[in-house]
Amino acid sequence: MRISFLLLLGLPSTICWAARHPDPVPGIDWDSFGFGLNGVQTDAMWLDRVDAVSGEYSTDAKRCLQTDQSITLSPAATVFNYGQVLFEGLKAIRWPDGSIVVFRPTDNARRMQAGAERFCLPPVPEATFCQAVEAVVRANARWVPPCGKGALYLRPLLMGTGAALGVKPSSESTFCIYCSPVGNYFKGELKPIRLQAVKGYSRAAPGGAGAVKASGNYAPAFGVQRLVRARGFDEILCLDAKTSSALEEAGASNLFVVFRNGTLATPTLSTATILPGVTRQSIIDLARDELGLEVIEGRITLDDMKESVVEAFCYGTGACITPVGEVSIDHNDEGMEDESIVFGEEPGPLTKQLYRMLTDLQTGTDADLCAKYRHWIHQIDP
Ligand SMILES: *Cc1c(COP(=O)(O)O)cnc(C)c1O
Repeated sequence: MRISFLLLLGLPSTICWAARHPDPVPGIDWDSFGFGLNGVQTDAMWLDRVDAVSGEYSTDAKRCLQTDQSITLSPAATVFNYGQVLFEGLKAIRWPDGSIVVFRPTDNARRMQAGAERFCLPPVPEATFCQAVEAVVRANARWVPPCGKGALYLRPLLMGTGAALGVKPSSESTFCIYCSPVGNYFKGELKPIRLQAVKGYSRAAPGGAGAVKASGNYAPAFGVQRLVRARGFDEILCLDAKTSSALEEAGASNLFVVFRNGTLATPTLSTATILPGVTRQSIIDLARDELGLEVIEGRITLDDMKESVVEAFCYGTGACITPVGEVSIDHNDEGMEDESIVFGEEPGPLTKQLYRMLTDLQTGTDADLCAKYRHWIHQIDP
């Protein structure tokens, strides 16, 4: 439902009609929300099933928004049998001025298009993707948490839903966006996490699908994730498939390191084994253009980490920036003792600075920065 309020602004003669987003649902303990479904049933999701050859995705919110948030599919759908499915993740945030914004949604749209190309699904046009995002946020605006208390996390999915036994692309494609309110990842101060790299385990191999947000990239990590968590670590650090010596990613987020000389570095996308994060690119841009830092996208090894790295952090839409306090290396069958690189209990100064900048920008709390990067901010009309 859309509610309009009459706002009287400035001089009595300038009366303007301004639509406003609905207030957040009352009586909710938003502070108790983590990154999850939080027991909330939101109001609507986007669902559009099209013929994979001749079909065009709809932009008609009346047709695609539905309150029933379930999908009925044949067990023969390619999404189940052959993993023909991609996902995205982005957040809608309520700003202090009452507006609701989404951060760089066209980047998510383009990334999903790249995945669709690889997975032989008809790509969703950028404009259609953004219109669907807007419609879902608008329909669920009362589930966007109050300013400063988290976000409405949007999860677009693109999948093959035609039923067929043969190993081939689906005859039907489904574009869906569901959403869930999530809390701030960090309730107070940034808390460094402990990573463990397990040699012999890798997330993505050269030539594989590591550079696209393919759902099938995640379940294969669950076993080793469980292993490192049972050992008391928070997350896995992924190493390159060929040599187990270069850093790639941490769980489902990108990785950054700060060298002793102040240079910021992150693994290069040129290996095509790294997911090109929207947050990753934002951090690179902010570090270069706002802090004047040298930023290297290259090959970073565990030895570099041992010898000359003074700070490390991971970043992604889910958790924003997560400082890394320690990196442990399990040499697995190389017959060496585990090693540990400790950065400490406190996040490094650059980690804190970049976290501040990015959250100020995303939450609308630094007017100057927001004005400068307004091309990253996608405002949702009420
Ligand atoms: C989604 C994801 C990221 C982070 O991407 P953002 O666009 O910044 O959210 C990083 N690594 C992996 C493997 C991911 O799936």
